[in-house]
Amino acid sequence: MNLKKNHITEIESIENTEKVNKTLSDSYANLLRGNREWVQTKISADSDYFTNLAKGQNPEVLWIGCSDSRVPANEVTNTNPGEVFVHRNIANVCVHSDMNMLSVLDYAVNVLKVKHVIVAGHYGCGGVAAALSKKQFGLIDNWLRHIKDVYRLHSHELDRITDDGQRLNRLVELNVMEQVYNLCKSTIVQNAWKERADLQIHGWVVDLNTGLVKDQKVSSNGPRNLGYVYELDDVEVIMAH
Ligand SMILES: [Zn+2]
Repeated sequence: MNLKKNHITEIESIENTEKVNKTLSDSYANLLRGNREWVQTKISADSDYFTNLAKGQNPEVLWIGCSDSRVPANEVTNTNPGEVFVHRNIANVCVHSDMNMLSVLDYAVNVLKVKHVIVAGHYGCGGVAAALSKKQFGLIDNWLRHIKDVYRLHSHELDRITDDGQRLNRLVELNVMEQVYNLCKSTIVQNAWKERADLQIHGWVVDLNTGLVKDQKVSSNGPRNLGYVYELDDVEVIMAH
């Protein structure tokens, strides 16, 4: 089977269909065009690229980042599809009642057995800026409330910063640190640490002005720094008689 030839035939078929559809907006059409260019680039370098990609994934990293379009996990870390498992939400918040985040975390930690979980924020984060303001934005205010709670925890430091931009960026850093702490407090991470020593939780902030990551140096590979109130005993399965 000539995989490359099949791909090209399929691409030509898609292009012919799109010529008929005049209602496609430029930005939408650009996505489909970009997809075909990506496919062509990949198979011209390696005709088995997609055959291998389809076989499965074995990422060692879970990235929990902001939904902001400027901080895509693979580009920031110069990694390829298959290398980073990704969850993103507004302002990279990790809440213990968020079933979406918990499902991703559980699957990554207990099934994929990732070695690194990275909470990745970014300076100038619009979500954090919104949480700093007193404006109402609608439903999202309930989500951003978690960041206001981070402010309250660190208000003694943040209130002393007079420059608005600096205060925002410090809250971005503190938010990342608190979300790392939230992950460490979770039963998923604590139980994983009882079983294995190779799981690390990290906090990063991406500087969009330089593209560089600033490691917040809050990496944890065990429950040592958790407050006693968050420490958990082993799970006991109580059998009903
Ligand atoms: Zn953001």
